[in-house]
This record gives sequence, structure tokens and C-alpha cells, in this order.
Amino acid sequence: MRQAHEVLREVFGFGGFRGCQEAIVRAVTEGRNALVLMPTGGGKSLCYQIPALVRPGTCVVVSPLIALMRDQVEALKAFGVRAEVLNSSLPPDEQQRVEQALNGGELDLLYVAPERLMQRRMLGRLKQVQIALLAIDEAHCVSQWGHDFRPEYLQLGALAEHFPGVPRIALTATADVRTRDEIAASLFADGCEKFIDSFDRPNIRYKVQPRHNARSQLVDFIRREHAGESGIVYCLSRKRSEQVAGWLNAEGFTALPYHAGLDGDERRTHQDRFIREEGLIVVATVAFGMGIDKPDVRFVAHMDLPRSIEAYYQETGRAGRDGLPSDAWMVYGMEDVYRLRQMLAESGLSDERQRIERQRLEALLGYCEQSECRRPSLLGYFGETHAGDCGNCDNCIDPPKRVDATEPARMALSCVYRTGQRFGAGHLVDVLRGKESERVSSLGHDRISTFGLGAEQPPAYWHSLIRQLLAAGLLAADPDGHGGLRLDPSARELLRGDDSFRMRQDPPRKPAGKKRRGAPAKDLGPTEQKGFDSLRALRLEIAREEGVPPYVIFHDATLQALLAERPDSLDAMAGVQGIGRHKLEKYGQAFLDRLRSLDSGTSG
Ligand code: ADP
Ligand code: ZN
Repeated sequence: MRQAHEVLREVFGFGGFRGCQEAIVRAVTEGRNALVLMPTGGGKSLCYQIPALVRPGTCVVVSPLIALMRDQVEALKAFGVRAEVLNSSLPPDEQQRVEQALNGGELDLLYVAPERLMQRRMLGRLKQVQIALLAIDEAHCVSQWGHDFRPEYLQLGALAEHFPGVPRIALTATADVRTRDEIAASLFADGCEKFIDSFDRPNIRYKVQPRHNARSQLVDFIRREHAGESGIVYCLSRKRSEQVAGWLNAEGFTALPYHAGLDGDERRTHQDRFIREEGLIVVATVAFGMGIDKPDVRFVAHMDLPRSIEAYYQETGRAGRDGLPSDAWMVYGMEDVYRLRQMLAESGLSDERQRIERQRLEALLGYCEQSECRRPSLLGYFGETHAGDCGNCDNCIDPPKRVDATEPARMALSCVYRTGQRFGAGHLVDVLRGKESERVSSLGHDRISTFGLGAEQPPAYWHSLIRQLLAAGLLAADPDGHGGLRLDPSARELLRGDDSFRMRQDPPRKPAGKKRRGAPAKDLGPTEQKGFDSLRALRLEIAREEGVPPYVIFHDATLQALLAERPDSLDAMAGVQGIGRHKLEKYGQAFLDRLRSLDSGTSG
């Protein structure tokens, strides 16, 4: 393990391991199999990269996406690690060069796609060289239940026979028990040690608010808290992602759409720009995300409800991989619930599966409506407990008021009942508020007892209450997705007067948040900000020259550490987080000069 610590410090420039990393590195380095569950940003890559450098031979890394492999190899090379990738998109002479390096024992890591790895020719080639270990990244791709199923992954089970005695490590950020068991069963017939890290992402701040004017809510949020920073905005449809990107561009941000309707070239260009430029926003459908390793995504915004808490957590997890403060922000409304239900009804899934998916959706609605700390509900989904009061979610920072709403809740439920349990929130609110419309009167709903009973409250109040009744399970939405609401049997007690109901008061529409300026999500004073901007500019310059993303040179966290520690020599710089030997040699002097010029600028 002494060697492992040395590699961690000398090559990667990190002072110590995080969480389970050390135990995992030990197991694999000593030749044992490991199944690793860690959240996005938890630091999975080091778990095989360090054993790769400590054990003799080459580490073969299986990864599902070409773009992901390319980025990882790029980042490793910047640390001076001998890594290459083999895939079908390489020109033949490149392939030959890589294969020769492999044969010559000159590679620490070789990245390959699963279908390529399992080809007889490739297996034969690998059997002739020394393999240090086999790493299977994004291992949830073996799960047929999961969302990223790749049939090629199922063949990876045979690796145990092909490479007896070579340790295997499988890694994923998808943690549900079913997927976990599937991975263990298909990849580790010969057994493995399991390492399950906490799924908490303490640097991510969760914020959820009812949608009233999506455009101005989003623009406000980005302008106030993330001007000039990179972010992902998720939408449910292609059309919507085009529209939202248009809004943002009109407001002076740089935003690019990303969805399955764009052709391959355009998608690649947009993804590439997102990775290589700073301060770009991608407005995407769920097609965007896996394979984005960008560490400095400062916010993930959801304009529409995702399908489930799991999907939400996975998508929000793409924020703040570098551990710096980041936001997961979402707006939602009843129309989301209707739309998702309709999509489900038209999905062709079995009834049983649809029922499960509906429950998942309801759980997410409950999450949106809750007024306590959000972290326990999120982590509960991964079988983890959390004491609450995290201090870093909207409900902790600005606890919503809860007020007794037993009478209004009864009114709303009774309105649902008297209109025949088949109308959606819009119509129910019209009736409750006594709207004299064609539709209301033609249905005779202006003659029922709840007509106009709630006129003194604005529509938003009733919409909120109905959502909360749905989230509390007192109302149920029709499975067909047309938006009809009916009473759940559990509503009976409240209707009879044997129960009470408290509702959360929605925050005022324009929260007076404090304005946060530019770059790092950590609040910096003006001098620090200037220094940070200057280091960022230098980084971008170097990145352009080398044709790599800026974060491959140094992460934001490293720039901040440089500013905080102000090393005055290369030796002193060697101790700064994220600066290994290779990067020190390559970039040390340039950053040292820049730091000095900052000092002379501010003192003069
Ligand atoms: P994952 O693959 O689990 O999403 P990564 O391996 O990309 O996570 O690591 C996430 C970030 O954390 C990276 O920026 C990496 O450099 C950083 N990191 C990982 N381990 C450590 C450590 N022991 N000390 C400091 N930073 C670390
Ligand atoms: Zn909290």
C-alpha cells in the first residue's frame, strides 16, 4: 500500500484516499475481485487506475462509450500515465501503434469497448501479454432491468475463464439492490468483495419549486447563481429542448440543444463544445449524460419532472463531480404528472411494470411536495439513512411554512367526488373558484355544492393543494394519463372529519436571493475572483494549444487551491491538490509566473 499512496501523491497529486477508495485499491492490488458502488463523482476511476500503476502489466478497462474512453485517456495522459484506447473509429495505423505498445508492455491502461474485447482476435492478443487487472466501468450495463442495458456486457462474465488469476473490478453509480445482484451474478461467478460507498453528494444543493413561469424562473436562477458557468438543463422532449435553448440564447447565455432528433455530427459537436469550452449550457433530453465526465458542471436544472427519483438522482449527480458547491434545481407541476402517465400508458409496458413505474412517479411527486430536508428521501432510495437537516437543500435553508388546511382539503376532495371523479386539476379549480364558464355550466357543475366555495383563494393555491393531496395519496390520478383525479379510499377519513391535513405554503414567487457572481460556486471576494479568472484564462489558453478540455489541465479545485496557498516555488507547488509530478513539470512554471504577476498587480 505504500506504493499506492506514492502513486496517489506523485502521479495524481492527491494527499489521501477518499471513502472506500483505500480498501478497494488494497483488495484489487492484492489480486481480489471487487464490486464497487459509488455515487457519480465519488472517485471510482482511481480505484482501478492506481492498481493499474502498482501491479505489473496492463490494466484493461471496459467502457461502453467511445467518447468516455477518449476523454479518460486524455485526462490520464495529462497526468503522464501511459494510457491508450482501441476502438473501431481509430485509423489503421493508430490501431497498429497501440497494439505494438501493448505487445511491448508499454501500456499502463488500455480502454476497449466490450464487443471489441470479446472478439477472439482481441482475447488472443491480450492472452499473450501480462494483464494487471480487468476493470468494468458502468457495470450496471449488464442489468436488463436498468436503463442502459448493453447486451455485449453479458458476455463479460466469460472473462473469469479467459483470464484466470487476474483480478476484476466492476464499478457503477447505479445502486439499487436488483442491479447490484445482477452485476454480481453475471460478472462474478467466482465471487467478489462488495464495496458500497455512501451515495450522499454533500456538495449538491437540492432545490425544487412549483412551475409558474418556467422561462423566467430558469433565467433568474442561472443569472443569479450561475452566470458564466457550465450547466445542463434537462427537458422531456426534443421540441422543448430546442425551445429552452432558444430562450437562453435570447437572454445572452450560450446554450446548445442536445437530443435524439439532431444528427450524429451535430450531437457530437455540441457535446464536444460543452466539454471543451467554459460556461456553456446544454439543454438536453435524457439522451445526454452518460459519458459526460466533465467535473465542473455547476448546475443541473430540470424543466420537467423526470420519471423517478432514481432517474432524478442520476441526472442531478452530473453536477459537481469535482466536489465544489453545485445546484440541482427543478420546477414541476401537475401537467408533468399527466404527461408522464400518458407516456406510460402508451409505452406498451406490461400492466405490472406500468404499476411500478406509476409508483415511482408518485414517489417523486412526494419528494417535490415535502417540506422537510430532502436528503433523507433521496438517500432512502439507495437504502441509506440520513439524519436530515443537511443544511444544504432548499427546505433546510429556508424551511417552508406548514399550515392547517383541513377545511380546504375537504372542499377539494368533495369537489372531486361531486364532479364524478374524472376531471383534472384545471377543471376542479374552476369549479372551486366558481368560474362561470361554458364548460362548467354545460356539465352542470355550477349547481353542485362546492361551486364557488373557494373563490377567495387564487388558482395557484388550489393547484398547490391538489398536488399535495395527490402527493399524500389522498387523491389518485387516472392511469390513462388524461389527468382525471379520483379519491383514494384513504381520503374517506378526512372527508368524514376524522382526520386533518396540513399543507406546505409555496414560497413567494420572486424569492429575494442574494446575487452570486460568476465562476466558482464558492463565494469569492473581488480580488480572489480576479485571480481565479486570470488562472482560468491561462488554463484555457494552454488547453486550446493542446487541444484538450480545460479541466484536463487543472480542475477548478486546483486553481482555487493555488490561489489559497500561493506557492512561491515549484517545490511548494508540488504539494497542491491535483498537481502531480508530470503536471508540475509541464504547467508549473506558467502558473507560478501567473501567480506572481497577480501579486505584483494587487500590491502595486
Ligand atoms: P466517478 O467516476 O466516481 O464519477 P471520478 O473518478 O471521475 O468519479 O472522480 C471524481 C473527481 O474526484 C475527480 O475530479 C477526481 O480527480 C476527484 N478525486 C477522486 N479521488 C480523489 C481523492 N482521493 N482526492 C482528491 N480528489 C479525488
Ligand atoms: Zn436538507
